[in-house]
Amino acid sequence: MPATLLDGNIFANQIKEEITEEVRQLAASGLRPGLAAVLVGTNPASQTYVRSKVRTCEQIGIFSELVTPPESSTTEDLLALIEQLNARDDIDGILVQLPLPAQVDAKRVLLAVSPEKDVDGFHPVNVGNLSTQRPGLVPCTPLGCMEILRRANIATEGQEAVIVGRSDIVGKPLAMLLTNANATVTICHSRTKDLPAVCRRGDILVAAIGRPGFITTEFVKPGATILDVGINHITDPVLFERFFKGDEKREKQFEEKGSTIIGDCDPRVTRIAGACTPVPGGVGKLTIAMLMSNTVKAAKLRRLARQAETAVQG
Ligand code: NAP
Repeated sequence: MPATLLDGNIFANQIKEEITEEVRQLAASGLRPGLAAVLVGTNPASQTYVRSKVRTCEQIGIFSELVTPPESSTTEDLLALIEQLNARDDIDGILVQLPLPAQVDAKRVLLAVSPEKDVDGFHPVNVGNLSTQRPGLVPCTPLGCMEILRRANIATEGQEAVIVGRSDIVGKPLAMLLTNANATVTICHSRTKDLPAVCRRGDILVAAIGRPGFITTEFVKPGATILDVGINHITDPVLFERFFKGDEKREKQFEEKGSTIIGDCDPRVTRIAGACTPVPGGVGKLTIAMLMSNTVKAAKLRRLARQAETAVQG
């Protein structure tokens, strides 16, 4: 039996509906969450991502502000901008779209974002909060993975979870979230020995590598749940044939556009897995929804906590 498709669109729409309702309720108590998106320069892919984030804010009722410093901006220019945004009460989340221009010290800029407004969850304070299970902001893509498991009723407690990829934005925070959810977690990377055998231990297998179709059927435990985080554009016809020969829809798309998107898993893993996220239309769909969720969470943590403090003092 082929794997159940874990459709990211369905889960993302559910989450967005829930957040829209929450934003409506917060508005009734005079609180409108706000997100500032900082887009430096004119990178077309970054423009597309940021526009899509701003549009989603508008749909949900979150205030959003797009700030577009020029490509020539220096680290100091951006630090000054972040300082202004940190000081503004109407801004709850600050998103700095990566990559930043080569002359900018991206680490310094990201570190300057106040941990309270760090809706990407990259700040070391939030990394520490996650690992010690304190309230804080968690990176959006791993959060999206957890939402898929939760909403699809896939158990984590006592399950073996194997994550391939140890990046700070996906693999490591997801390992922490799964550990907190009582899974037994193994993190793999480029130096892992006998990767297929380690992956076959996974009741839950996460691929966050950045290599097209790398995870093949020999990596998969029969019936496992696979979360494919990878987003890879392929243009090589030989690679295309290897993965999509006979898939009429993809063949038509490849012919028209000269490219297609594939995850880190070979599409044939669906023959062995019990459930699987597609690419496109899987994990990626939840990332923006979780950014919205983080913005609302940041607003509540910061502003409601302050209201409570004022009430106690008053
Ligand atoms: P990254 O920072 O490049 O990390 C890749 C990880 O994969 C590294 O830990 C690396 O190991 C490991 N790796 C590479 N080759 C390997 C191999 N042959 N065997 C085992 N492990 C290997 O990537 P990332 O930022 O986490 O992104 C991973 C993928 O997810 C990319 O395709 C990216 O586009 C996608 N992504 C999607 C979303 C979304 O919204 N869906 C969000 C973020 C990222 P080492 O540490 O040993 O080098």
